[in-house]
Amino acid sequence: MFMKRFVYADNAATTPVSKKVLDAMLPYYTEYYGNPSSLYSVGRDAKKPLELAREQVAKALGAFSNEVFFTSGGSEANNWAIKGVAHEMAKKGKKHIITSKFEHHAVLHTVEALKKEGFDVTYLEVYHNGLVKPEDVEAAIREDTALVTIMYANNEIGTIQPIPEIGAICKKHQVLFHTDAVQAVGNVPIDVKAQNIDLLSLSGHKLHAPKGVGALYIRRGVRMPNLIDGGAQERGRRAGTENVAGIVGLGVAITEACDTMEERNQRLTKMRDRLIEGASKIERSRLNGDKTHRLPGNFNMCFEGIEGESLLLKLDFAGICASSGSACTSGSLDPSHVLLAIGLPHEIAHGSLRISFSDQNTEEDVDYILEVLPDIVSYLRDMSPLWDEIIHGKA
Ligand SMILES: *Cc1c(COP(=O)(O)O)cnc(C)c1O
Repeated sequence: MFMKRFVYADNAATTPVSKKVLDAMLPYYTEYYGNPSSLYSVGRDAKKPLELAREQVAKALGAFSNEVFFTSGGSEANNWAIKGVAHEMAKKGKKHIITSKFEHHAVLHTVEALKKEGFDVTYLEVYHNGLVKPEDVEAAIREDTALVTIMYANNEIGTIQPIPEIGAICKKHQVLFHTDAVQAVGNVPIDVKAQNIDLLSLSGHKLHAPKGVGALYIRRGVRMPNLIDGGAQERGRRAGTENVAGIVGLGVAITEACDTMEERNQRLTKMRDRLIEGASKIERSRLNGDKTHRLPGNFNMCFEGIEGESLLLKLDFAGICASSGSACTSGSLDPSHVLLAIGLPHEIAHGSLRISFSDQNTEEDVDYILEVLPDIVSYLRDMSPLWDEIIHGKA
């Protein structure tokens, strides 16, 4: 029997707020509670940190601070970017959008909504390695293309897309390019200018800032309708009294993530690869997504003959928080659209496991997962009629 341990390994779903971030935020709930729009000193005291956070986010992206607009998170930023550009470009008769099959639902469902309004959508193929091909983007661009939206790193299989190459193609054809970089920010070096990104979405809670805060980068010169009409906040484009403490937290978190990226990535890559190597010893297992073009902390494997849901329950019982498919779809029995997009058959896509590490995980966590995972998989297979069929029957 193993010594039970608690391992939070679902950082692609959300991360805990770090102590450093929380400490930076707290005074903005108590001491400096003023409305940043007010002219007296408690208000001014809340305005300055807001602008500092904007500079911190801009710096992390290689943007100018007046190109950063705070939102309530990644979903809102994606909606604003995609619907905003689509509606603006439709005025010029451009009603074609290019995206990929394995985007986050905050992108896919937004694009679906536009389709109902009469937009035409091309869904690019994601190949077996979990990557889109830049040449496919180029081939899909038409006279009436309004926007290309391709995620920077996938939230389930962690694959990192060839964003600079896609950016260069969009620039060459003068088509606007948006990327959902929620999973990439702080983990992958990003430079919106060098990579020709016109719009970029990010979220705080995936990088140790709180839930409910994020940002959209809008390149100077890109025409965007207001998201929320009202006061003059966010230069009149997204009205509403700012989430000052959350924004302060985002600024600190993104700075911390970027400053420690190199050292952390080395450590997490080592842990990830050891976990992949260990879990690959389980028979009839397979890694989903490219082995190297993936986020340092992302592990995603399928184990034939078992259901992801039962695997998660068993892991939870052993103290391990992980996921199968994405958090937004679990609870439904449909296999992940991401795994189907990379060509896995339904029955295999059902048995997937995603483990995602952050800087708070350790080598001991990897040891522990490798200690319990093979036994859990065998236990579930012993009870699975599907497994029986796989080893004795057709396969
Ligand atoms: C989590 C996530 C989102 C949604 O961000 P929220 O801040 O939770 O709205 C969007 N895209 C990707 C890739 C994500 O991982």
